[in-house]
Amino acid sequence: MPERMESESRKLLSRLQATLAEAGEGQERLDRITHLIADSMGVDVCSIYLFRDADTLELCATEGLNPEAVHQTRMKTGEGLVGRVAKHGRVINTADAPSTRGFRYMPETGEEVFSSFLGVPIQRLGQIQGVLVIQSKEARELSEDELYAVEVVAMVIAEMAELGAFVGEGEALRAPHKNQVMLKGGVAQEGAASGHVWLHEPRVVISNPVADDPVVERTRLDEAVDDLRISVDQMLSTAGPKEGEQVEVLEAYRMFANSKGWLRRMHADIDRGLSAEAAVEKEQTTARARMSQVPDAYLRDRLHDLDDLSNRLLRLLTGQGKETGAEMPADPILVARNIGPAELLDYGRSLKGIILEEGSVGSHATIVARALAIPLVIHASGITTEALNGDAVLVDGEQGIIHLRPDDQVHSAFRDKLAMQAKAQERYASIRDEPAETQCGTVVRLDMNAGLMADLPSLESSGASGVGLFRTELQFLTRSKVPRRGELAALYARVMDAADGKRVCFRTLDIGSDKVLPYMKPQDEPNPALGWRAIRVGLDKPGVMRMQLQALIRASNGRPLSVMFPFVAQLEEFTQARDMLLHEMDSEKALGHLVPEKLEIGAMLETPSLAFAPRRFFEIADFVSIGGNDLKQFFFAADRENERVRRRYDTLNVSFLSFLEQIVTRCAAMETPVSFCGEDAGRPVEALAFAAMGLRALSMRPASIGPVKHLLRRSDLREVRAVVNEARANGAMTVRPALMDFLSSRG
Ligand code: PEP
Ligand code: MG
Repeated sequence: MPERMESESRKLLSRLQATLAEAGEGQERLDRITHLIADSMGVDVCSIYLFRDADTLELCATEGLNPEAVHQTRMKTGEGLVGRVAKHGRVINTADAPSTRGFRYMPETGEEVFSSFLGVPIQRLGQIQGVLVIQSKEARELSEDELYAVEVVAMVIAEMAELGAFVGEGEALRAPHKNQVMLKGGVAQEGAASGHVWLHEPRVVISNPVADDPVVERTRLDEAVDDLRISVDQMLSTAGPKEGEQVEVLEAYRMFANSKGWLRRMHADIDRGLSAEAAVEKEQTTARARMSQVPDAYLRDRLHDLDDLSNRLLRLLTGQGKETGAEMPADPILVARNIGPAELLDYGRSLKGIILEEGSVGSHATIVARALAIPLVIHASGITTEALNGDAVLVDGEQGIIHLRPDDQVHSAFRDKLAMQAKAQERYASIRDEPAETQCGTVVRLDMNAGLMADLPSLESSGASGVGLFRTELQFLTRSKVPRRGELAALYARVMDAADGKRVCFRTLDIGSDKVLPYMKPQDEPNPALGWRAIRVGLDKPGVMRMQLQALIRASNGRPLSVMFPFVAQLEEFTQARDMLLHEMDSEKALGHLVPEKLEIGAMLETPSLAFAPRRFFEIADFVSIGGNDLKQFFFAADRENERVRRRYDTLNVSFLSFLEQIVTRCAAMETPVSFCGEDAGRPVEALAFAAMGLRALSMRPASIGPVKHLLRRSDLREVRAVVNEARANGAMTVRPALMDFLSSRG
């Protein structure tokens, strides 16, 4: 780097540092910054544009443009050169602005006289907050070194705590970080919650982006990197031999920690006037920008590792640990970029809600959140940058909406909503011990779904008849190695103890597809949902399934046992799995263990093919449980995890209901009990339609039992059936409108 430039950027930064150190309101400070930059760089104009809402930029400070235009001139992202910089997060540097693609003339700023234009995104960790613009009459493109200086200044501006004050509509200017923000994400677990933000990874606050002495900063950085290397090496040497994925991540950490390029770039940034922390963060911002553009999932994961490593380094440099001294609020709503299932289980039921910047409907964390019945919103873009520990936050898990720092009006509307829900809960509690008996005298058995020991108390509180689906994969997903038979047997025994004689239907390990075990070799499958999963894995690699079956038999210790196999697509898969279980019964008996006095072996019907299985299947299956989540995705060929299509086809679609009816008919012919255990069973209107199609057992989240029972008890299935039949006869696509009309006519 040329000496001249080094001193120029250092000079600029140290003047900037002095300015930032002075007291003053946000506006005053922005004004001073624009003045200082224009002055130091000898340009005619320096302006700062910031986002006022998701797609509107506003001129917030300027030196050189018409001062009247400040807080008046606005533009949409993508509009004009400034809007384009903000949209693409890329620098525009041109000597001839008016002929540059995208130029838009803005008379209120007097802009037409300026020929050269440099726009640099103001961004922090990949979040674009605005644009820093330099303009001059003289037609010259700024040199690379000048450009660098402006980029660094933009970064320092992005660090200013009060920047948040300018973002968003309303009074904001004097009240940093106090603006209300509404975010829209995706629903992963329904429910509403009101509470206060608890950051899973509290943000590292950089109070000194600019530093005086590069030698000191280099030494600080080098020492921190050394500490980091040592800690990564230590983690690697203590990670057990079987903890495969963890080791892989640590190896990636080690690779980055030893990467010369990474360190070199940070050194260069320090030489140009940044503090060690700011240099780390600058690299992190670049990595995040790259991360959002990399299509390859593996590479993205590696960039993610680099991001985590940068966070560690920042914590080492600032001395800010995860322990910030902040106290967890009484009503915590967890905010994180992403979280693993084990970490989520550590928080347990203490959480009122969860908001993730990333996440997916089928992730392990989602499975845990569902099991714990904690409202979860995913894909809440920007939440980790917006939210601060302790901020008030409302989670609307029906709509996937988040209100951060809500105003009184929003808060009170939300309170009303919660109160209505609480009232409904009271109503449900009053019918807890009543049967789900319809007006026409049909009794529908309502079971609950579970997956954790912690779910079992809900058996009592919800009034469920039993556990219709016990998902056994959580014990496998949340560990770093295959659980031992003894551990599993003890857990299953405790589940049966807690159920106190009520039926618990254990589903054998359902992995593959979205549920990937950390210690299982990742399968590179073109279409994992249609791939090597569930019973297919169990039959091909029977070791784990055998062990699980033994654990179940031992846990029963003579008590009745119900087992079902997931994702059975043809009779032979069922007979093989069933034979395996019967074989284990014999061997356990031979070993002197008490075997179940009554054994029920069932299959989950999750692929359309099984509905058309030979009659023999229905004869030998002790029961059939319809896994509607999977069945629906295969029936409509619409990925249950793909936000674009997963809601495209209605469960009350006439074809799907008719299909369910066929399954019920086939089961009835052989007197094979059939139930439905997908998520839809917990939606009252869907549950009512299923009952009308002949289903007499439904298994759902415990929280849904009350609402479903309430509606069933008030309904006459013959009438509902008539509505369905009429809609079918009329050629309706879905019976929903007719059913909703019918229900509202009945109040
Ligand atoms: C289903 O597919 O409906 C089901 C209950 O299983 P899971 O959701 O665990 O795949
Ligand atoms: Mg399934």
